[in-house]
Amino acid sequence: MSKQKIEELAIFGAPSFFSENLYVGRPNIGNRESLLFRINDMLDRRWLTNNGPFVEELEKKLAAFLGVRHCIAMCNATVALEVTARALGLHGEVIIPSFTFVATAHALQWQAITPVFCDVDPLTHNIDPSKIENLITPRTTGILGVHVWGRVCDIDALRSIAQKHHLKLMFDAAHAFACSHHGQMIGGFGNAEVFSFHATKFFNSFEGGAVTTNDDTLAQKIREMRNFGFAGLDTVINVGTNGKMSEVSAAMALTSLESLDEFIAVNKKNYLEYQKGLLGIPGINMIAYDFAEKNNFQYIVIEVDENVTNNINRDLLVKILHAENVLARRYFYPGCHQMEPYRALYPQTDLSLFETEKLVLRVIQLPTGTNVGKQEIADICELIRFIVNNGREISKRYNRPLV
Ligand SMILES: *Cc1c(COP(=O)(O)O)cnc(C)c1O
Repeated sequence: MSKQKIEELAIFGAPSFFSENLYVGRPNIGNRESLLFRINDMLDRRWLTNNGPFVEELEKKLAAFLGVRHCIAMCNATVALEVTARALGLHGEVIIPSFTFVATAHALQWQAITPVFCDVDPLTHNIDPSKIENLITPRTTGILGVHVWGRVCDIDALRSIAQKHHLKLMFDAAHAFACSHHGQMIGGFGNAEVFSFHATKFFNSFEGGAVTTNDDTLAQKIREMRNFGFAGLDTVINVGTNGKMSEVSAAMALTSLESLDEFIAVNKKNYLEYQKGLLGIPGINMIAYDFAEKNNFQYIVIEVDENVTNNINRDLLVKILHAENVLARRYFYPGCHQMEPYRALYPQTDLSLFETEKLVLRVIQLPTGTNVGKQEIADICELIRFIVNNGREISKRYNRPLV
């Protein structure tokens, strides 16, 4: 069943194709009994937070899974980024991509470190290493790379730039849990990496995150900063914050971990289904994952080339899909540099972000996860095909003033 005539589109008043909303970032939920068993256990113990047994178990399991010496569980990735930047002694300016979730920039700006926005490679959507050195000044202390969509940024190039200029290198790996680079799990690169276990990420602990590092001293410092700077029961040795993960979050993370393979398998199946369904639609290109690496396949991302979509631009496509209850999302629109306070603080930045400015107009994220079925994906793809095939007529009618 698909739409046959443009009058059947919901933007023109017809009923929506899907009776229920299909969301981007609907949480994956593991085994309920397993979670509730853990929560009961926790309540019996009356140990709800402060480095309890679930947090310790989670840290051990994640460190082993990622092949790193240290995993420090945190309340969320934003605080984890802040604490890591501070523990690394970052100050002055730090180079980051603008094409990322705004938390990457905020984590720096929040502690009076200037995020210096670098352009991206239009093919990978990741920070373009060839544009970094131009941005380095005497105030630069670090580079913060982001593995956008779980596709690893150019770690090797970033590492050699950081070494050459004596800069710290950290990664926002919020998208990249269970992904690999040359077969090695993300988590062990740079001085430290930061994961998010937010409900919308493919592996979640309600709210949560983690820092991973192979640096013993750095790990110790982060542990102290996570807990108000305490180094013993009554000894405070530094300024700190409260970045602790609660036991109930760790219980959720441990439960999610048991279903990790299943989440990835579903995401991968969905990805292949989308690939098949979107094949040959002019102007619609889905980003590719490198099958030689481990991927979590959490992000179904298409780019709309409005020169070939018969007048259907990205925003119109999103509007039409929303009307059909496909709640596709623009990402990371309009780019951190166009958001406040960055837009006002650094008003000239857009001039150097040529590719980012174009990319933020092309990208759409489509629904996936354990909540979206094979038939729904086929229907979404058919809908997009119908919209593009009838693009000229649709856009003409959509733009015609009502009488
Ligand atoms: C989700 C996300 C964050 C923030 O994670 P929280 O755990 O919600 O604080 C940071 N950076 C990127 C790239 C993200 O996608």
